Amino acid sequence: MKAIVFHQHGKLDQVEYSDVPRPTIGPDEVLLEVKAAALNRLDLWVVEGWRGLNLALPHVMGCDGAGVVAEVGGNVTDFAVGDRVAVNPTRSCGRCDFCLSGRDQMCDQFALFGEHLPGFYAEYQAVPARNLLKLPDHVPFEVAAAASLVYVTAWHSLISRGRFQAGEDILVVGAGGGVNTATIEIARLAGARMIYVVGSSDEKLMQARRLGADVTINRHQEDWGKAVFQATGRQGVDVVVDNVGAATYQISLRSLKRGGRLLTVGNTSGPKFEFDNRYIFGKHLSIIGSTMGPRQDYDKVMGLVFDGRLKPAIDTIYPLSGGVTALRRMEQGELAGKLVLKP
Ligand code: ZN
Repeated sequence: MKAIVFHQHGKLDQVEYSDVPRPTIGPDEVLLEVKAAALNRLDLWVVEGWRGLNLALPHVMGCDGAGVVAEVGGNVTDFAVGDRVAVNPTRSCGRCDFCLSGRDQMCDQFALFGEHLPGFYAEYQAVPARNLLKLPDHVPFEVAAAASLVYVTAWHSLISRGRFQAGEDILVVGAGGGVNTATIEIARLAGARMIYVVGSSDEKLMQARRLGADVTINRHQEDWGKAVFQATGRQGVDVVVDNVGAATYQISLRSLKRGGRLLTVGNTSGPKFEFDNRYIFGKHLSIIGSTMGPRQDYDKVMGLVFDGRLKPAIDTIYPLSGGVTALRRMEQGELAGKLVLKP
């Protein structure tokens, strides 16, 4: 079958559209005929690799997939050949204390398709049946694929971990990126009073306003820390979402009102930096981290996608053979939504 793979770690020139064997399935798995797969910035880091990431090579990329069940394992009773399905992008053991208490994102064996496991930039992939969610007929495959990882991550951070409440003010640092745009939409749906968004281009900020942002600040045109301070009547906001890290953390902490929460699921500008600890205790701040999310959050947020209350922005749909082109576009940055591959 055709797939987007790399044979060794490195830059994107290691990635190619080529033939790999079609996966075989175990008794608890189904063979998914992939109808859509969505790109994530994580793909670029997986190609580069890191210490401790020991992949079977060639590695089939892609965290997010949706499609049709093409074959079912002997123990699978809930799904049949021909079912349209979305895939919860994370796999866990299903037996440990974390899994049994609904915290499967903390499982020792927690793994993500396309990162630790073979992914969905392929015509077929083997998937445990318990990762599947039936996809209603009116929901396109590309919508399900585009939504999965970013929405479960944003929902888990903002709602389950961050306890974001109706009537609160929120600042999202960064207007591009799937998790940030999903966060803006979810904050709107949750009843945010004011949504402030800091971004690097007027285009991305216009999109943020379409998704529900009330106030947008172009960081190339003004001092965004000062702008937030002034716009909030020198109070700051209840919640800051900062997935940038090194370049922004200090200003994010300063932008919080007393008792505020800083939520983080990543650090696109670098993981190690200093900040002034006096903000943390002096203003009674909390820093709340998480990564991806548990199954119940996946079901919850995908239900909202199926109901049309959350709509992932899709920038471009490419054929699977255009996967390398799509990855290069993502590497360059300026996107107005998800990039999707269709085998
Ligand atoms: Zn477990």
